[in-house]
Amino acid sequence: MARRQFKTESKRILDLMINSVYTHKEIFLRELISNASDAIDKLYFRSLTDDAVTLSKEEYRIDITLDKEARTLRVSDNGCGMDEAGLNENLGVIAHSGTLQFSEQELRERAGNLPDDETHAGHSPSVRLVGQFGVGFYSAFMVSKRVTVLSRAYGSEQAYLWESEGVEGYSIKAADKPSHGTEITLYLKDDADGETYGEFLEAYRAQSLIKKYSDYIRYPIILDGGEEPVNSMIPLWRKSKNELSADDYNGFYKSKFHDFTDPAFTVHYTVEGAVSYTALLYGPSQAPFNFYSRDYEKGLQLYANGVLIMDKCAELLPDHFSFVRGLVDSPDLSLNISREMLQHDRQLKAMGKSIEKKIKGELERLLEHEREKYEEFYKAFGLQLKYGLYSGYGQNAELLKDLVLFHSLAEEKPVTIKEYVEKMPEGQQHIYYICAETPAKAALLPQTERVRGKGYDILCLTEDVDEFALKMLRAYDEKEFRSVSGEDVGLTDEEKEEQKTKSEENKDLLAFINEALGDKVNGVTVSARLGRHPVCLTSEGDLTIEMEKVLSQMPHGGDIKAKRVLELNANHAVFAAMRSLFVTDREKLKVYANLLYTQALLIEGLPVDDPVSFSDDICSLMV
Ligand code: ADP
Repeated sequence: MARRQFKTESKRILDLMINSVYTHKEIFLRELISNASDAIDKLYFRSLTDDAVTLSKEEYRIDITLDKEARTLRVSDNGCGMDEAGLNENLGVIAHSGTLQFSEQELRERAGNLPDDETHAGHSPSVRLVGQFGVGFYSAFMVSKRVTVLSRAYGSEQAYLWESEGVEGYSIKAADKPSHGTEITLYLKDDADGETYGEFLEAYRAQSLIKKYSDYIRYPIILDGGEEPVNSMIPLWRKSKNELSADDYNGFYKSKFHDFTDPAFTVHYTVEGAVSYTALLYGPSQAPFNFYSRDYEKGLQLYANGVLIMDKCAELLPDHFSFVRGLVDSPDLSLNISREMLQHDRQLKAMGKSIEKKIKGELERLLEHEREKYEEFYKAFGLQLKYGLYSGYGQNAELLKDLVLFHSLAEEKPVTIKEYVEKMPEGQQHIYYICAETPAKAALLPQTERVRGKGYDILCLTEDVDEFALKMLRAYDEKEFRSVSGEDVGLTDEEKEEQKTKSEENKDLLAFINEALGDKVNGVTVSARLGRHPVCLTSEGDLTIEMEKVLSQMPHGGDIKAKRVLELNANHAVFAAMRSLFVTDREKLKVYANLLYTQALLIEGLPVDDPVSFSDDICSLMV
């Protein structure tokens, strides 16, 4: 019998789990029951289409058996079971995807800051970390020194026994089991240091935990071979809203969707009509680790009259709301409808549309009445909303435009575009934005000086998709978006006049500098946007420098260049110096021109083509 190692990342997280994260250790029972129920769902669903599965609905059950003497708690189900490979795959790794790359250091730092209460866990980095994985089964190790899983897959004669004492690894060997299903035995830890694991062996305690967390489970949960199931078996979403507390909803969410933190919002409603259905929708408060990767699969659970028929029905959720978890239960759907048929189903499309509206409405409500919560939520999923604005040629822009937030330079906090527009002073024609890595860096950019000087606010775009999203919107409330580094910042007539005169006066100087810089720039002008700074780099035409940066990271985007314009501040002392050099020392003027250009690159956060000659130039001026 070979001893096997947990996959490395599982090992670390398991360690973290066992030794920390939860003070609410009791949730292990909810997790195991939820897995048992899922396993029965799988088999039950198969029985609908596969004549080889001959169990009737009444036969399914989950058993909890307590043994004080042996100090064991056992959870058994007669669901689909697992074969040897299944045990390996499902219980040997926590996250099934290889995308986890946390350094030891990071884990240690995160683990150092532990919450004292699960319900406040939303703010703890360690819980956020652990919360990103489906760690349901592993929670057994919070209360156990040893766990065995005896499982026999439906349709197979051979059973297997999985066994582990925690981080050190696990083993699997062939075993006997009279019927299909899974039997998980927890050998509870010894009571010590105020921790009383023995309490889980008390029938009243187990009973109240089942009631508390697993009441809605659709299959009977039988405690110690009793006559009556402990749970009511009424699906939570079938209960009426006023029967349910926030705790009920949150507990259900966490066990059903394997999250460790409370959701940001919950929507529960029933529609009666051409297509009738009940929906229970949740907005997570944190993004699953794979959310922004291709592995992430969107979709809602689909039930036909209480029976699960599809786990992730993608048609029910638009991409821009792909973060929503939840379920839809409809009496109008047929049970043995195939996946392909469902994909083209008009009923589903109709439901999807009304679900989209509901989610939008809920997000608006949150934005208006629970701003802080919305902002937290937005940190996790705002990017998805902005992708939504941008993708499909902006076909969802109307729907999403009031849900996105950008950092306001003046107010130093995230604002909606609507809020920005409402605060625009008289005379301001455009909505201004600037692209930068962070709001702090944006505030330093010289291009912002004039616009800010006029008392106009500037939206700060910090993510790659931002500028593309705004371009897709073009305008809000008929006010166009303008980059403060872009071609047309909306100058007043006097400003235009002044700029024209200054350009005219310095025509030869500007032409000389332009020539000295060669094809590095498309033009050199006198600036109308600078205040204190001598120089900045802007762009001409639709493609901005920020967009160039984004596109150049893409596989075929390397050749796309924004038309760069070097803008000089004619009121700056450096400009005066250049004017005199134009008369006295043109070689030196060339050096100045290159230096200013490089400074502009640095300010923009663009790479400097030739740092060595930049350094040489500075040295030549120093000596
Ligand atoms: P999750 O439930 O989030 O996938 P778990 O760690 O709880 O994560 O379980 C991992 C996998 O192990 C499940 O997805 C399921 O395939 C399998 N599994 C767990 N418990 C059972 C069970 N009682 N019967 C059959 N399969 C199970």
